[in-house]
Amino acid sequence: MPAATKEPKAAKSAKADAYTELCDLVRKGSVLGSVNALLNWDQETYMPAAGAAHRAEQQSMLAELVHERMTSKRIGELLKACEADQSLVGKESSETARNIREMRRDYDLATKLPGSLVAELAKVGSQAQEVWKHARANDDFKSFAPWLDRMMSLSRQKAECYGVKAGGELYDALLDEYEPGMTAREVESIFTPLRERLTDLIGRVAKSGKKIDTSCIEVKVDPKLQHEFGLQILKAIHFDLDAGRLDVTTHPFCSGMAPGDTRLTTRYRGEKFTDALYGTMHEAGHGLYEQGLPKLGSGKKPGHFGTPLGDSISLGIHESQSRMWENFVGRSKPFWKWALPRANKAFEGALKGVTVNEMFAAVNTTSPSLIRVEADEGTYNMHVMIRFELERALLHGDLAVKDLPAAWNEKYKSYLGVKVPDDRRGCLQDVHWSFGLIGYFPTYTLGNLYSAQFWETILTEIPDLEDQMAKGEIGQLREWLRDKIHKHGKRYRAAELCKKVTGKPLSADPLLRHLSSRAGAVYGV
Ligand code: ZN
Repeated sequence: MPAATKEPKAAKSAKADAYTELCDLVRKGSVLGSVNALLNWDQETYMPAAGAAHRAEQQSMLAELVHERMTSKRIGELLKACEADQSLVGKESSETARNIREMRRDYDLATKLPGSLVAELAKVGSQAQEVWKHARANDDFKSFAPWLDRMMSLSRQKAECYGVKAGGELYDALLDEYEPGMTAREVESIFTPLRERLTDLIGRVAKSGKKIDTSCIEVKVDPKLQHEFGLQILKAIHFDLDAGRLDVTTHPFCSGMAPGDTRLTTRYRGEKFTDALYGTMHEAGHGLYEQGLPKLGSGKKPGHFGTPLGDSISLGIHESQSRMWENFVGRSKPFWKWALPRANKAFEGALKGVTVNEMFAAVNTTSPSLIRVEADEGTYNMHVMIRFELERALLHGDLAVKDLPAAWNEKYKSYLGVKVPDDRRGCLQDVHWSFGLIGYFPTYTLGNLYSAQFWETILTEIPDLEDQMAKGEIGQLREWLRDKIHKHGKRYRAAELCKKVTGKPLSADPLLRHLSSRAGAVYGV
């Protein structure tokens, strides 16, 4: 072989080595991060309360170590080398080019934050979480207020470190962590008309005067039986229990902490079994996404765990997966055709004589309420909008923490027409702010919008899906989601994926069509 052809080959392998080393370093940081995820899960499930102070130290130290690794000079050098190599980034939409683009984004964001701030956020978050638990249990906002104040101030510092783009606002910097590329103004432009149309729908339902009999879901079912039924549902929707588990917590969540290890949590109420059922299906939707991400390799293909290609796109897309299983599958008639006899058997005859139509109506009522996680589909997004407006005001200093309860109660009165009796069922109900998750709430509604738009496409591509669901066959739906969404990891941004999968940019119309159709079926409006 002539020497001239040998040199580029050698050069190419040196550059490919840069990419391999880059992925390896980032993956190692993620392995360390997954230890923190395990500690978080433990804190929420089994850790004795007295372990909280030391846990905060552990989490703070780990967060700092992860940050140190993810901001290393070497990663910066390798990124530069990869970005200069056309064989890696020349084709902008290739997996490798996208992986490098997203690693650059993560690196730039991480290097903007000083390690001390990262450690403090983790420590205060862990401590504030414990304070919040007690404050919520005792309806004691005063004890939580200084911690929320501290969290807001740290979040402000974090947003300032990330920086505000021209024409933007501080809130954007935090929202961008969860929903890359989205701004507060864009969220507002989606939420404002959505609120008007939802207000109209909720008003029409109220005017109908129709009272739905919900006694079929308000039956006493032993939590043990509920848990067994939850596991049965997980198997039916193909959540892999050999690579996951289901536990009990105060605030249900899913942690896709590692390849082969996806953990779901739920909470049981003796008197209304659908709370836990839908909580479980919701978290299972997140879990199926985590299990569908290409974290583990197959055959000769290496796994992508730890790099963006093995990670989810955004919280909005993540939420679209959970809401799809909870609402589009779990609250549908075809699902109940299959599930009702099974639930009746699992609950030892507690649902005897209940019809599919009665169950469908009972799980699709629309009625303004106090608690977001228990809200029905029709009113849920109003809860999200209230939080978005309040946290935006808190962050920007337009609302003082001490005035939060009054502002909260006033918004519930004006948006949902409900009177908040205490802070426990008011501004203390969510875990997010204690953790410092500011900018997170809008992704819930974005998830609802994405799920409705995906669902319309799914129904045209799997025309007999509802017949399949009535027989408990969910496999084709799961494969569709894997193929169109899960397997790509972070190769596409949310807006790009939406266009690619549905052919259209995100719109509120599919969700409103869906909600109107359900309200029509149940209330005749
Ligand atoms: Zn969720």
